[in-house]
Amino acid sequence: MYDIRGVAEPKTVEEALEVLDKNSDLTIISGGTDVLVKLHEGRMENLDLVSIREIKELEAISMLENGDIEIGSRASFTDIFRSEIINKHLGVLAEAAVSMGGPQIRNIATIGGNVCNGAVSGDSAPTLFALNTKLKLKSKNRERIVPISEFYAGPGIVNIDSNELLLSLIIEKKDYENAKGNYIKFATRKAMDISIMGVSVVVKVKGNKFNDVRIALGVAGPTPIRCSEAEKLAENLEVNEGNMKLIAHKALEASKAIDFWNASKAYKDHLIDELVYRALKESVKRLGGK
Ligand SMILES: Cc1cc2nc3c(=O)[nH]c(=O)nc-3n(C[C@H](O)[C@H](O)[C@H](O)COP(=O)(O)OP(=O)(O)OC[C@H]3O[C@@H](n4cnc5c(N)ncnc54)[C@H](O)[C@@H]3O)c2cc1C
Repeated sequence: MYDIRGVAEPKTVEEALEVLDKNSDLTIISGGTDVLVKLHEGRMENLDLVSIREIKELEAISMLENGDIEIGSRASFTDIFRSEIINKHLGVLAEAAVSMGGPQIRNIATIGGNVCNGAVSGDSAPTLFALNTKLKLKSKNRERIVPISEFYAGPGIVNIDSNELLLSLIIEKKDYENAKGNYIKFATRKAMDISIMGVSVVVKVKGNKFNDVRIALGVAGPTPIRCSEAEKLAENLEVNEGNMKLIAHKALEASKAIDFWNASKAYKDHLIDELVYRALKESVKRLGGK
């Protein structure tokens, strides 16, 4: 049923990096909610696994001295939406976390696994893109920080070396301070369904003008994307209904959506137009606007 050659179970990051360094044909398993499904369905076979489940240091969610927030790659979606730090400072990420799967899946699925599987339908991706998240990757001889936009390379493909482990995700203070956001997942069911479209918006307002607007989409192309033209248009625009509709419509220019079994391109583009508008409106409301 599960075509597994062996499983290593390191207890520390250093042990895991040693194991990964010795063999380039290993597959990391964290919560296993993607890997085990693929094994079960025969989409992965004959795997030599490195389980990182016992590495407790990867589960922490903390605020660093400079105000940046660091989320361990093994933080589960339940850890994230229950975290005081996340709820206080990154409400939009808590919202994305609770939209994912159902309670059982959220308890074991990790944010690191969600990012490393490279799926555009991943519920964390749009918000992590909107927050300019940095990824801390480590191999035995090297540690590097990569912007999330450079990590996703194509559908299900990410830029990670075979000997690397994703340690954590970092959201810098400047990217969340004085901002509010809204994540909208559009799916056919309320739970246990992959998103047909995911829209995340993070907004800052100065006076009555948009000051820093981030708009990110999942399932609108081969990787999650930012709507940079719409973001540019929003800068210094007065916050009002008409302008929010204008910005949302401009967001469509970034769409590389294609016809797929669950939704046509036309349908997805319609969703982008409508959901970006709704997410902008909700973000402004959360900032205290009307
Ligand atoms: C019933 C069900 C419902 C689901 N619903 C949703 C949903 O609504 N939204 C959604 O986004 N996803 C959903 N998923 C998909 C899945 O649960 C998520 O993608 C989850 O976040 C994967 O995390 P994991 O820890 O289980 O990953 P794993 O299966 O352990 O690993 C996934 C991939 O990431 C790699 N990996 C994991 N951790 C690391 C690390 N620290 N460093 C390097 N590589 C790593 C693995 O090698 C593998 O390639 C669902 C899955 C199931 C089975």
